[in-house]
Amino acid sequence: MAKTKWAYFFGGRKAEGRGAQKELLGGKGAGLHEMTRIGLPVPAGFTITTEACAQYYGAGNRWPKGMEADVRASLARLEKLTKKRLGDPDDPLLVSVRSGAARSMPGMMETILNLGLNDRSVEGLAKLTKNGRFAWDAYRRFITMYGSTAKGVPREAFDVEFKRLKMETTSKRIGKPAGDTDVNEAELRELVAAYKAIYKEHVHGDFPQDPWEQLSGSINAVFGSWMAEKAVTYRRVEKIQGLKGTGVNIVQMVFGNMGADSGTGVCFTRDPNTGEDTFYGDYLVDAQGEDVVAGIRTPMKLSELEKRAPKVYRQLCDVRTLLEKHYQDMQDIEFTVERGTIYILQCRSGKRSAVAAFRIAAEMVKERLLSKEEAVCRLTTQDIERLFYPVIDPAIKPEELKKRKVGEGIAAVPGAAFGRIAFNAATAEEWGAKGQKVILVRRETSPEDVGGMHASAGILTATGGKTSHAAVVARGWGKCCIVGCGVLEIDYDKGTMRVNGRSYKQGDALTLDGSLGSIYDGELPLVQPRFPKEFDTILGWADEMRRLRVRTNADTPYDAKKALEFGAEGVGLCRTEHMFFDTEERRLAIQEMIVADTQEARRKALAKLLPFQRDDFRGIFEVMDGRPVTIRLIDPPLHEFVPHEGPKQEELAKRLGVPAEKVAHRVEQLHEANPMLGHRGCRLCITYPEILEMQVRAIMEAAAELKKKGRKVAPEIMHPLVIDKKEYQILERQTRQVADAVMKEQGVQVDYTVGTMIEVPRAAVLADQIAESAEFFSFGTNDLTQMTMGLSRDDAGRFLPDYVDEAKAGVFSEDPFQSLDQAGVGQLVKLAVERGRSVRPKLKCGVCGEHGGEAKSVKFFHKIGLDYVSCSPFRVPIARLAAGQAVAEERLAKKRK
Ligand code: ADP
Ligand code: MG
Ligand code: MG
Repeated sequence: MAKTKWAYFFGGRKAEGRGAQKELLGGKGAGLHEMTRIGLPVPAGFTITTEACAQYYGAGNRWPKGMEADVRASLARLEKLTKKRLGDPDDPLLVSVRSGAARSMPGMMETILNLGLNDRSVEGLAKLTKNGRFAWDAYRRFITMYGSTAKGVPREAFDVEFKRLKMETTSKRIGKPAGDTDVNEAELRELVAAYKAIYKEHVHGDFPQDPWEQLSGSINAVFGSWMAEKAVTYRRVEKIQGLKGTGVNIVQMVFGNMGADSGTGVCFTRDPNTGEDTFYGDYLVDAQGEDVVAGIRTPMKLSELEKRAPKVYRQLCDVRTLLEKHYQDMQDIEFTVERGTIYILQCRSGKRSAVAAFRIAAEMVKERLLSKEEAVCRLTTQDIERLFYPVIDPAIKPEELKKRKVGEGIAAVPGAAFGRIAFNAATAEEWGAKGQKVILVRRETSPEDVGGMHASAGILTATGGKTSHAAVVARGWGKCCIVGCGVLEIDYDKGTMRVNGRSYKQGDALTLDGSLGSIYDGELPLVQPRFPKEFDTILGWADEMRRLRVRTNADTPYDAKKALEFGAEGVGLCRTEHMFFDTEERRLAIQEMIVADTQEARRKALAKLLPFQRDDFRGIFEVMDGRPVTIRLIDPPLHEFVPHEGPKQEELAKRLGVPAEKVAHRVEQLHEANPMLGHRGCRLCITYPEILEMQVRAIMEAAAELKKKGRKVAPEIMHPLVIDKKEYQILERQTRQVADAVMKEQGVQVDYTVGTMIEVPRAAVLADQIAESAEFFSFGTNDLTQMTMGLSRDDAGRFLPDYVDEAKAGVFSEDPFQSLDQAGVGQLVKLAVERGRSVRPKLKCGVCGEHGGEAKSVKFFHKIGLDYVSCSPFRVPIARLAAGQAVAEERLAKKRK
């Protein structure tokens, strides 16, 4: 067996790994290797694989065989390349130890900087750089990070000591309140001594001086952070599954904290909010590592950097161009400037608002960075969904807004939200779980807050820039977020806040406008946003590509119209029973029909319903203007229509002029032990053909009426829950009898078809027999999933989450009611299509379950040759995009070959 390679080296313009190896090297590692290959200034280092992390956990937290040798060899190579040695007392090599999994998990894992410093090498570094302050500052940071991350010393303990030093010593010396950079070398030496004492007190051992001990301890800490609670929570919330673990990157340190010509920054190659093609980011002078992201100081804009350090800015622009060209996408870059020279420490595809996602993809096609196919594949369901996020109602008068405005911060993520103030993540989670709207208000956020951030409608912080932790995480979710609101005076202990003279306590209401960065008192009404113009461009491309048609599930002319605006090409499912609940009159008529005990009485009640149904159908036909409309005859068990409580039953009895007992008795009669498998679907019309008669008549009379006016109509009459060919034939014969009779009466010919839903496994298996008569199939994948799996959709909530949760059972990777179970239910659909078309080659096949609006399922339906999918109006664009992507992916795969 070949020896496993545990560490991959990069440096000196060469790299053993490449960008495509995200799974093995993690996203950060793969990026470092790829950037090295394309000639970007990346400090050298090596990556320990995610496989090593997996094996570490598999073997009870021990390094796999051969890993130590690989790490030592890579370290030796790094020392040779840099001509420095880890722990060298004269000229030490310093490294960072960084986590990085295949999927980006911002701030989830710990990073340790300045590793390799000890009591001797710190002096060497000081001498070499002629900057003792810098060396000791690096050392105190290292002790903090190593102590807290690798050894569990509370970070607070260090922070308190630092604060004390600044207040008691530095401030006295300089005669004013001291900031971090005011602390001098002597004070830092004192601080390091205090830090070592703190370390010893918590760890019961001295701070390690041996660099190998430091390195191996840090590698273990990164491995350990993979299973830390915040990381596990993040993966759960983000539904990240199937990863091996984290990679570990050991990277030569570069220093942004060497004075005014040094600094560190984060930037996006385009504006992540609007998508505009401008360089966007924050830069902090004389700072290291996490200072920008943590939002401790408020950074400067890149435009300011351009003025202050044009040479550095130009280097950065070159990097920007090269990266976009290479990755063909907007990138999020972390960089450090050491004495005027720029180093790139990380790049990844940047998180962006939905508006930006559409704009960037469309503009990159114009710039010839992308093909239309690639652009279509760039967008996701979430991008579309996020466009539906609300904004403050523009109808609100400016004066009113002005009155309500309490303050302003940096607009980090657009969209608006209102909710009650929670000052900590736990409260936000608690209220969120109860379905309440929450605004999480913090001085700054940290990875511990992710659960609470997710549960909140909006996030507001006092510090930080547009690339702070809060902003990055919120942007990923498209969640309204305002940062850097310096006027917030939060008192966590009291649970209160003062803003520009107004006071708030936990639980008070606020409204945030994340597009403007404005904060308003109380609750303001919100409305949905306008779509960016690139939305139509991209969906237009998807439409040109796709073969699948997209219809909608609509029960009313209103829904149908909405769906048409979203691009629906027909109605795939019109549920007639929903029309029965619309008004008091209709409900009474249907109840009268159900309570009736003779056919004659039933017909009388049905006759009252007929005009209502006819009007509804006419409305939908009119809106759809000749596009196909599939109408499903009555489906749910009758007992769903009747009142179950005494007073309601009495009321009905009175209106119908029958004794209350009769109603009660009838309701009791209708009770079923298992209604979903009971008297429902087409079984109802087998027993009560007069229902079928009325519904088909209503459909055909509406169609005939329009036809006579010269309008086009294309009704498709559909029988639900069919299980057998004979059953279907009975229904079909009746349907045609009524339909033909209506056409004769009206003296007009209407082209209509009759077909069936396939939603019972038996029907799928016998599809060839049923297709002898049925003109179309529509797969009701909700019931089909329920019946194939033997899982009740209404009860599965109690146990199915465990099946999907990887930490528990992890039986399914996804909820089969949300994303089609392709291996099981999907095969039944495929089989039914094949069998059906074996006897009727042109059999029209569609899907009308929830899955018709879920991207992965839509792609599957494309693959097995369905003609259309149908979904709720708001999901129509999602289905259009997915159907386009199905073709785009095929084309791109062919091109790659
Ligand atoms: P995260 O996953 O949280 O982004 P990183 O591994 O990127 O963590 O590191 C955190 C911070 O430390 C970043 O700002 C990065 O720029 C900085 N950093 C990491 N490695 C080095 C290094 N070798 N030299 C200088 N700064 C570094
Ligand atoms: Mg980090
Ligand atoms: Mg980073």
